[in-house]
Amino acid sequence: MVTYTAPLDDIRFALNDLWGYDQTVAPLPGCEDATSDVVDAVLEEAAKLCVNELLPLNRSGDEEGCTFENGVVRTPKGFKEAYTAFIEGGWAGLSADPEYGGQGLPKTVQFIVEELICSTNLSLGIYPGLSHGAYNALELYGNDALKALFLPKLSEGTWSGTMCLTEPHCGTDLGLIRTKAIPNGATGPDGEMAYKITGTKIFISAGEHDLTENILHLVLAKLPDAPPGAKGISLFLAPKFITKSDGTLGPRNGVACGSIEHKMGIKASATCVMNFDEAEGYLVGKPHGGLRAMFAMMNTARLAVGIQGLGLAETAYQSAVAYAKERTQGRSLKGAKHPDKPADPIIVHPDVRKMLLTMRAQIEGCRALAAWIGMAVDVAERHPDEAKRQEADDLVALMTPIIKAYFTDVGFEVTNLGMQVFGGHGYIREHGMEQLVRDARIAQLYEGTNGIQALDLVGRKLPQGTGRLLRRFFHPVLAFIEDNQTNADLADYVLPLAKAFGRLQQATGWVAQQGLRDPEEAGAAASDYLRLFALTALAYTWARTAQVVLAIPEAERQAFHKAKLSTARFYMTRLLPQTSSLFAMINSGAKPVMETEEAWF
Ligand SMILES: Cc1cc2nc3c(=O)[nH]c(=O)nc-3n(C[C@H](O)[C@H](O)[C@H](O)COP(=O)(O)OP(=O)(O)OC[C@H]3O[C@@H](n4cnc5c(N)ncnc54)[C@H](O)[C@@H]3O)c2cc1C
Repeated sequence: MVTYTAPLDDIRFALNDLWGYDQTVAPLPGCEDATSDVVDAVLEEAAKLCVNELLPLNRSGDEEGCTFENGVVRTPKGFKEAYTAFIEGGWAGLSADPEYGGQGLPKTVQFIVEELICSTNLSLGIYPGLSHGAYNALELYGNDALKALFLPKLSEGTWSGTMCLTEPHCGTDLGLIRTKAIPNGATGPDGEMAYKITGTKIFISAGEHDLTENILHLVLAKLPDAPPGAKGISLFLAPKFITKSDGTLGPRNGVACGSIEHKMGIKASATCVMNFDEAEGYLVGKPHGGLRAMFAMMNTARLAVGIQGLGLAETAYQSAVAYAKERTQGRSLKGAKHPDKPADPIIVHPDVRKMLLTMRAQIEGCRALAAWIGMAVDVAERHPDEAKRQEADDLVALMTPIIKAYFTDVGFEVTNLGMQVFGGHGYIREHGMEQLVRDARIAQLYEGTNGIQALDLVGRKLPQGTGRLLRRFFHPVLAFIEDNQTNADLADYVLPLAKAFGRLQQATGWVAQQGLRDPEEAGAAASDYLRLFALTALAYTWARTAQVVLAIPEAERQAFHKAKLSTARFYMTRLLPQTSSLFAMINSGAKPVMETEEAWF
């Protein structure tokens, strides 16, 4: 069994001490009641739900998995009850619009609650996670009638949602989809033309299950007059049960689960082949406007997937710390630390400490970054000043591929380190560490692989607005460095940050220039560049953390604060230097990657 307590102290630190939640988010229109005290109470409740209801089902859910029989998918024992407790607590509509029955809490709170859910039961969390993505797409692009009909059910959680994008022959390149939509000659419950959707979608998370009364599939398909490629994609909503205009359920629609996948991890999350056979569907957004709507759906989903990595990493870290303090093997290199015992606990060994600190520094850095960007999502949505909204939106757009890719890489690396701390016992199922590794692996793949995130960063986000997005990150970091570079107390933190930032600036110039000349240069640099960027962003959060802690008089610093400083120093000295090798790798260019001819492989 893993060890887990919700890291509420660290969350409070990130929200309040580091980024000033009460000055940034609480004053936004609609957030007036969501002060830090209220948020704190919400998080306490979320922590109880996660620890008491979700965590106990994590391992049994993994052992049992989902089952498929005669078109029916069953989730593991206890999942239905836990999901019911989840929706009865109002968690499904936490950040949904009160107009549609939601609680209207800031997205910042939503992201944090998602971290706790992912730490305790990622498989279960995927069901409401998908509904959340569907809610966002419908809220942004659906017509008023569709919104009135479906959004309250999604925010209540009695109906769930899916994202049906992938087909057997295409995942990344969705321009290739073959699913068709043709007008069916009747009107839908929104009074608009309904369509018949036909095609096969694979790998559909939560495509079929027994948790909700109805499932709303958001499906990418092509209309008969669709232009070729990605410009010809449209988005449709096809419910499992046809929904009448009064909201009552009609007959079963022409969409069914053909089978479920047998996977490496997240075994209690049903991953389905979905067959659409003239299923009734309703257009969401404009004809051929599916790509935009899809990005709306995917952007929030990408941040949420990043959070999955963070959540799993936290559980691995806490479990590894507990084990390292308990497991006795060998003696400290400087002589016995616990002479009363036959051996010292393994936490005395430098190598074990290095693993634990790597885990901790990555997790807390990622959490701080997530809090900053989560708050920017709220500013982007709610700030009364359009310029501020745009600024925040730019920052979110820039950081989304970084959070998705880097956090999920961290999720896999950190869960692996957790397993390593357990030695051979980490490989044995009963400790739960190998499940964390298996569960973490998928997040690097879905919602666009991490390689694709890196291409999004260098190909779309860097050039956008001639570097406007980039400046939303560069300017505050540069200002921080300039303001603090002569502060001797902060030198251990600001100087390494300044060096890494210099590398990032140079690498950015290199990628932009070389990429213009030859796109393969940008392609070959992309994933190293994303990692260099992420490491620098985490360095910024760690330097700010040090600044906050150093402002507290030394005598008043708690163990929590002292640990923050020592972890910050570890990050700067033991992890951030990776930026140097990444910089060298980027500068070596595309030739070493591309000169090997296809036939030589
Ligand atoms: C458990 C699970 C759940 C999923 N849930 C959903 C879901 O709910 N809805 C849904 O629609 N899909 C879902 N997916 C599908 C998932 O999003 C895709 O698998 C993923 O986007 C990658 O697509 P692919 O598997 O076809 O890989 P491919 O697109 O075939 O890619 C294979 C490799 O080539 C690389 N590659 C491809 N194109 C390029 C390029 N242009 N440049 C550089 N590298 C490239 C990729 O990075 C990857 O490494 C799920 C998948 C799994 C396994």
